[in-house]
Amino acid sequence: MRIENEIKLGFKDVMFRPKRSTLRSRSEVSLNREFKFLHSTKIWQGVPIMAANMDTVGTFEMAKALANKGLFSAIHKHYTLTEWEDFLASISKNDLNHIAVSTGIGEQDSEKLAQILKLNPNLNFICIDVANGYSEYFAEFVKSTRQQYPDKVIIAGNVVTGEMVEELLLSGADIIKVGIGPGSVCTTRVKTGVGYPQLSAIIECADAAHGLGGHIISDGGCTTPGDIAKAFGAGADFVMLGGMLAGHNESGGELIEKHGKPYRKFYGMSSSTAMEKHVGGVAEYRASEGKTVEVPYRGPVENTLQDILGGLRSTCTYVGASRLKELTKRTTFIRVNEQENRFYNQ
Ligand code: 5GP
Repeated sequence: MRIENEIKLGFKDVMFRPKRSTLRSRSEVSLNREFKFLHSTKIWQGVPIMAANMDTVGTFEMAKALANKGLFSAIHKHYTLTEWEDFLASISKNDLNHIAVSTGIGEQDSEKLAQILKLNPNLNFICIDVANGYSEYFAEFVKSTRQQYPDKVIIAGNVVTGEMVEELLLSGADIIKVGIGPGSVCTTRVKTGVGYPQLSAIIECADAAHGLGGHIISDGGCTTPGDIAKAFGAGADFVMLGGMLAGHNESGGELIEKHGKPYRKFYGMSSSTAMEKHVGGVAEYRASEGKTVEVPYRGPVENTLQDILGGLRSTCTYVGASRLKELTKRTTFIRVNEQENRFYNQ
């Protein structure tokens, strides 16, 4: 047994230190980024915030709304081929560059992935997603996917440490998804005791990825626009959101009414709700590592996006970053024991 004594940090442990700036207004800030990838020759331009590949978030409807503002969606893996066909017939070519097709690592998963990709050659992004990206088999799967699709942009995860980021990049991934346990409907840390505070995970994984020319996505744990800014400040290239995009018109999840008010169901992809829906129940050898909640219905996602993007622009003006790309270079985090004043939240 060994203990690492350095304290690892989450979003709640830091704030940005404001810096002198020549920017006069947040309207001068550009949130667009352009990425060249490690293996794929594709180039991506857009606002690097993405919907999580959960069936309550990464829906076709969400993908259209987000692509419309230049954002990205990882589409959940439970749509049928026919549903994909209909969707692809209804979306323009440029928007296809703002979605990823998600897959697990089973044989059926990779067959389905091949069938979906065959539907349209402009589907450029593959998201290979497992809860635990540390297995040797996962790295092998990434390798064989890279061999099969030399041109596609491959996202792989989830991991939280630099050495595994490097291994997956060297196995053929372009972008590594980082986060174990921070998610709003995740219970991994409770059920297993495993995890890594997200801000430190981003800092360490970004360092490893950028050293090799790869990229990372910070996945999970953002509860406010300020957290998203902190993820970018820490070095994330993309930030993936679940809970912050749940509960909208474009989100999945059953609509319910409680005490006269509308709610939408939101659940983790390894919750018993999701497992009953997609695989007919929780297998005997495993525990569910996700929970089911009801979130107040929030209308169109457009208003939430404006709130998020406005907050992020404002962070950039506080530290003098005229482009999102500069945010991490201009970031000094201060460690804190307080966040917002909750006097009127009680
Ligand atoms: P959020 O933005 O809601 O805090 O986090 C979203 C992320 O939580 C997802 O992208 C995914 O990585 C993770 N997640 C989703 N469902 C589950 C689950 O059932 N269990 C665990 N451990 N993580 C989940």
